[in-house]
Amino acid sequence: MVINTCGFIGDAKQESVETILGYVQAKSEGKLKHVYVMGCLSERYREQLRNDIPEVDAFYGVNELKTIVGDLGAHYNKRLLGERMISTPSHYAYLKIAEGCDRKCSFCAIPGIRGGHVSRSSADILKEAQGLVDNGVKEIIVISQDTTYYGLDLYGKRTIAGLLGELAKINENGWIRLHYAYPHGFPRELLSAIREHKNICKYIDIPLQHINNRILRSMKRGLSSEKTLKLIETIRKEIPGVILRSSFIVGYPGETDQEYRELLEFVRVTGFDRLGVFAYSHEEGTPAFKLRDDVNRKIIQERLEEIMEVQEGISLNKNLGRLGSKLRVLIDRREGDYYIARTEGDSPEIDNEVLIPADGNKLKRGTFSDVIITSAESFDLYAEPLKKLGLRRK
Ligand code: SF4
Repeated sequence: MVINTCGFIGDAKQESVETILGYVQAKSEGKLKHVYVMGCLSERYREQLRNDIPEVDAFYGVNELKTIVGDLGAHYNKRLLGERMISTPSHYAYLKIAEGCDRKCSFCAIPGIRGGHVSRSSADILKEAQGLVDNGVKEIIVISQDTTYYGLDLYGKRTIAGLLGELAKINENGWIRLHYAYPHGFPRELLSAIREHKNICKYIDIPLQHINNRILRSMKRGLSSEKTLKLIETIRKEIPGVILRSSFIVGYPGETDQEYRELLEFVRVTGFDRLGVFAYSHEEGTPAFKLRDDVNRKIIQERLEEIMEVQEGISLNKNLGRLGSKLRVLIDRREGDYYIARTEGDSPEIDNEVLIPADGNKLKRGTFSDVIITSAESFDLYAEPLKKLGLRRK
């Protein structure tokens, strides 16, 4: 068993450790021969883990692919880099365009674990994308720690817009989706690329983390509240109908009730289409670790829940506004009495879903279907295929 771990915040560390312990138990029962652990958690805490969980055969960091492949008795073949075994459902895949991060967000352990930003060459990325499409992938989800930074280290300028355009050509019958668009230095050409290519999802995931200026400065996010508002206005103006996703942290050191209220009001007024809220995690080795982790955990939880409650209302209103609209969806799976699908405004696992009754419909996983929205809940839509109703999407 090879376990790839995550280790950048408390919850992720806990999940990784629980997973390791589960497989160590299986090894002690003779169900497994060996347990190997790799990835961020072991990069960060290798010595401690070795001492605490000696039953693990070996720990590897984030840059030891060659060693682990060798230890498993295989031959490391550089030519196979970029060849993928897809661990997601076969119709969508994440495509990593860079590794590491050059930003200095005060709360974040990632640059310490993964190092500085290194863009992959576009030729490499496009080759991998072609392989994915050839293997039936319909949705390519572009990721890295900071996707809007892409190209700066390699080509001297931000080239994410051009890269997405190339990917859109390769996956011309499918979708290209972009995640983690850092707001500071956001390249405007990206907006034109999204507007001009029909198959680049009109979906922008832009993690903002907070809106209060004191906190943004302390977080070293590089963008003031005023500039953030301007950016959102520009995005919405340039891409009508864009689905905006963001994420925020509550309970950052020193976050006062008033600063939190400012964030809550911002969420209420802005009306993000999709939202994630995280409890601040005090991580050693980060600049913010020097600050006092002084917001009570109960208060953090209450703030988190309050924002999500507000968001639930916003999401319900937005979903009700889609009643009767005709949309293209990608069928993800069948679950009980429904096919579960997503619109271009929904990323797998984190966003809304569209439920289509299985009764009387025969749909195939990994195919697109045109539907009409028939009913709505806070985070789910219900739909019927247009074909069944003898209708067409414009
Ligand atoms: S941009 Fe993202 S990965 Fe980079 S330091 Fe900031 S939060 Fe961490």
